[in-house]
Amino acid sequence: MSKKEFKAESKRLLDIMINSIYSQREVFLRELVSNASDAIDKIYYKALTDESLTFNKDDYYIKISADKENRTLTISDTGIGMTKAELEEHLGTIAKSGSLSFKHENEVKDGYDIIGQFGVGFYAAFMVADVVTVISKALGSAEAFKWESAGADGYTIESCQKDSVGTDVILKLKENTEDENYDEYLEEHRLKTVIQTYSDFIRYPIKMDVTVNKPKEDAENEFEEVVEEQTVNRMVPIWRKNKNELTDEDYQAFYSEKHYGFDKPLAHIHTSVDGAVRYHAILYIPENIPFNYYSKEFEKGLELYSNGVLIMDKCPDLLPDHFSFVKGMVDSEDLSLNISREMLQHDRQLKRIAKNISKKIKNELKNLLKNDREKYESFYHSFGRQIKFGVYNDFGAHKDTLKDLLLFYSSKEKKLVTLDEYVARMPEDQKYIYYASGDSYDRIEKLPQTEVVTEKGYEMLYFTEDIDEFAIKMLATYQEKEFKSVSSGDLGIDTEEDQNQPDTDENQYKEIFDEMKQTLADKVNSVRASKRLKSHSVCLAADGEVTIEMEKILNAMPDSQHVKADKVLEINTNHSVFQTLKTAFENDKDKFSLYTNLLYNQALLIEGLPIEDPVQFTNDICKVMA
Ligand code: ADP
Ligand code: MG
Repeated sequence: MSKKEFKAESKRLLDIMINSIYSQREVFLRELVSNASDAIDKIYYKALTDESLTFNKDDYYIKISADKENRTLTISDTGIGMTKAELEEHLGTIAKSGSLSFKHENEVKDGYDIIGQFGVGFYAAFMVADVVTVISKALGSAEAFKWESAGADGYTIESCQKDSVGTDVILKLKENTEDENYDEYLEEHRLKTVIQTYSDFIRYPIKMDVTVNKPKEDAENEFEEVVEEQTVNRMVPIWRKNKNELTDEDYQAFYSEKHYGFDKPLAHIHTSVDGAVRYHAILYIPENIPFNYYSKEFEKGLELYSNGVLIMDKCPDLLPDHFSFVKGMVDSEDLSLNISREMLQHDRQLKRIAKNISKKIKNELKNLLKNDREKYESFYHSFGRQIKFGVYNDFGAHKDTLKDLLLFYSSKEKKLVTLDEYVARMPEDQKYIYYASGDSYDRIEKLPQTEVVTEKGYEMLYFTEDIDEFAIKMLATYQEKEFKSVSSGDLGIDTEEDQNQPDTDENQYKEIFDEMKQTLADKVNSVRASKRLKSHSVCLAADGEVTIEMEKILNAMPDSQHVKADKVLEINTNHSVFQTLKTAFENDKDKFSLYTNLLYNQALLIEGLPIEDPVQFTNDICKVMA
């Protein structure tokens, strides 16, 4: 019989498993038990939905047996089993299980991260075993097969004898070393503890032969040791338990056991609803972003159980996109086991549950925001972007649900604030909610356009994410206050000078501005005297819907339509540079056009926009200096 090689990725993981000094080797048992439980789920589901199969609940269990003499530990299940092809496919390569992605090279360096992050599953067996033997008979198959591997050099498969459907995983434990005592996994007590720590909620009995002291039948006050089969796990799934009986640690353990994430969840929601729709759910708000969260590969969804039987491991219809980060499960008695994916989409019960869940998530987030700001900000740091997308997507259909969950950086508070906090602080004469966009808070702070708003003492929201302005445009108003970009045409701020000399500048310097516009041609829509500049000489503003920041973002998109903001070059007529410009206008047209171009290019630089002709620009500066 020839040996087959593991697929490359599997080989590397095996190496890590075998060689890692992993502090929690005991999780191998959790992984094998969880596989056994999955396999029983599958056969249980089949038996419930296929009338030709008889169904007897007692037939489904997991058995752990230790053989001290031969130093083997066996995990047997009465699950669905594996065919020869499945043994090859599922145990010969890890990539299949989807548990592990090798994209993140760095995380592969030590075993701890991998197990923590993905739950490597079956391969964890090699942390404690030299040789792993899997004997399996698949449902509906007459033959059984034996898969065997001693680690990285490959595996063999041959046919063998097994009467009942199911799988035995047999571990030949490693030799004890100075640091590591593998014999502990043959000890009844130790095994029991490990099972109860990690697999207590497994819904099938995990049986073990346990030695107990029993009173002798014929003699009084005498005891004898007898071996009896016991179920060591409590089985009641966590979601059916009373909240009061559960601790945060229980929820965290469930989170890791389920591989929902490798972080500690920020918050959990445990709910049991018994009304028009009946369901139990445990939902988690993770703290960290899954590595593929903002990519196409990420699939949202919750585990869906029908009366305790897993029917789908990622049901997307249970979660709206804006809450796609939520992890967890739903168990409902009202769903049919036989339901297909397509039917599920139209299922009224499921729709109700989804709606219900959505509300609970929103309330939990609002609670966090109100009662634990630090936690909320940590959540927002990871998933705030998704909330903003949620406001923008579907033509704003969810904006009212989400608007109170938004946070933006405040120019006054120097931290993230809610829109409600902003509006509550607005002075009476302030008409708009002001915002400024840019690459970073520091850069925004220095934007000339912010000068007049700052001087007026109004608070500004700083937008640094590309989605920010789009989301805000979708909202349009908050508590009836309109949003206003600091670089938009009319800021609605009356300065004192305005009242003294309303628009006189505009008329007085009309000729100059007209000629500047002619020089700049279609680079700008118009040139005008600025009402917002105080110490700076020049800036760009935008009339109309599209702001300069939006133009930048839209044009950076792959399918860009070359959107243009209606740019206006604003000149500070009180600035000394304007005097120079005026003199040039009167005496030297060449200089005038040189200065106009320089000012325009400066405005571009301030905005972070590319200068169309940098060589010309530097030449122009040299001309001025010469
Ligand atoms: P995962 O459980 O994340 O899919 P594993 O590495 O734990 O990844 O297992 C790989 C695959 O091997 C499983 O998806 C399953 O198809 C198969 N498998 C493992 N153990 C068993 C078992 N006891 N019975 C049936 N199939 C099993
Ligand atoms: Mg597994």
